[in-house]
Amino acid sequence: MIRLFVPNDLSAGAGLAPSVEQSRYLTQVMRQAVGAELLLFNGRDGEWLARIAEVTKRGCLLNVIEQTRPMALGPDLDLDLVVAMVKRGRIETIVEKAAELGARRVRLTVTRRTNVDFVKLGRLDAIAMEAAEQTGRLDVPSVEDPEKLATILDGWDPARKLVFCDEGGDAPPAIEALAGREGPAAILIGPEGGFAPEERERLRSLPFVTPVSLGPRILRADTAAIAAMTLWQAAAGDWRRT
Ligand code: SAM
Repeated sequence: MIRLFVPNDLSAGAGLAPSVEQSRYLTQVMRQAVGAELLLFNGRDGEWLARIAEVTKRGCLLNVIEQTRPMALGPDLDLDLVVAMVKRGRIETIVEKAAELGARRVRLTVTRRTNVDFVKLGRLDAIAMEAAEQTGRLDVPSVEDPEKLATILDGWDPARKLVFCDEGGDAPPAIEALAGREGPAAILIGPEGGFAPEERERLRSLPFVTPVSLGPRILRADTAAIAAMTLWQAAAGDWRRT
């Protein structure tokens, strides 16, 4: 069934007009007509069944029928991805996969060797929303404005563990380091040029940081992000649940 993310509050009997793009998608791309059913979610009220009540030139109107899933964001779903800015195609892949793999927030970061200084956040938000719609999530991961790595570390909440993907070769295997971990976490992925020595030194000196290795080969940033989130979900996240 078609799933759409809407900002509106969702409750039985509510009526709402989806965005112009969503209306066009429903009626012209998916050729849905009056009476067709779909699922809505807003990141707050869970998932709801809705029906197309009216289709006009300006768009369509939806009636909210009943809740199909209550809102639930398990504790083992509190995962952030902190990723150094990389080329456009790769950062878009990283955001899409972060949404699919259950990251709650994507924090873009600028490191010493970052060589990309511009991203279209609106486009990344749209990619995150579309991926959330397709994966059955009840929320959409937020994509935060780029920040310097030093700023992110200065303001870090020590209750959130930072899993530092360190290609330096002397970190323990990720699956060992992550096994049985609990609580809020974040995964840090460096730029194509890797972390500068002083960045690695600072990261390794911080008590909330766990350096991990993703194996003997140097992975591209997007591959490393996908691999690290996969290992986290399997060892410490919601893939442990049946
Ligand atoms: N240019 C760097 C080098 O040659 O050492 C490679 C950087 S890599 C393309 C981008 C990021 O992916 C790294 O900063 C790291 O966070 C992660 N990464 C890649 N391969 C990894 C590995 N084998 N173990 C841990 N992290 C890895």
